[in-house]
Amino acid sequence: MLSEVLSKESCAKCGFCCSFRRQSLWELPRMPESFASEHTTGAGGASVKYEYGEEKGARYCVTFLRDEYRTDDPEEEVRCPFLDPQSGCILSGDDKPFDCSIWPLRCMRLPDGGLHVCLTPTCPEINRVPAERMEKLVEDGLGERIIQYAEKYPFMVKEYRPGFTVLK
Ligand code: SF4
Repeated sequence: MLSEVLSKESCAKCGFCCSFRRQSLWELPRMPESFASEHTTGAGGASVKYEYGEEKGARYCVTFLRDEYRTDDPEEEVRCPFLDPQSGCILSGDDKPFDCSIWPLRCMRLPDGGLHVCLTPTCPEINRVPAERMEKLVEDGLGERIIQYAEKYPFMVKEYRPGFTVLK
C-alpha cells in the first residue's frame, strides 16, 4: 500500500520493523484469529507460535516471541518468524498482516478518544520521504481505508504515544 513511497527492495534490505526488542513487542502486528491456522510455518520451515486476545469483541492473534530471547540485553532483537534474513518477508502481499502493509503508518487512539492515522518516528526509510508526500498519500484515500479497517478490527488500534506524527 505504500509502494509509492517505499520500495520492496529497501524494506527487505532494512527489516527494521520486522525485528523486536522486548520493549517493542507492543508493535507486533495483530491479525484476525484465523491467520494463525492459515500460517503455521515461518521462514525456514519453523513452526510459528501465537498468542491470542480480544478487543471489543474481535478476536486476534499475534506471534509469540517472548520465549525467543536468549540474553538479558534489552537491545536484543528477535525476528518475526516470517522474516527471511536474506529475502525479507516470506508472506505474499495478500497474506501480509494489514498492520505490516501500512507500516510505518499506525491507527492510534488519541487521548480525546478519536482514531487518527499517525506516522511512526523510527522508520529509517520513511525519514527520507518528504512529509508532504506522506500527508498526500493519507489524504488521497489511504487514511480513510485505515480508519475503516480499524473500525472493523479494533484490535489494530494502538494508544497514542508521544513522538508519533498525527497525519489525519
Ligand atoms: S509479517 Fe512480514 S512484514 Fe510483518 S513483521 Fe513479519 S516479516 Fe515483517
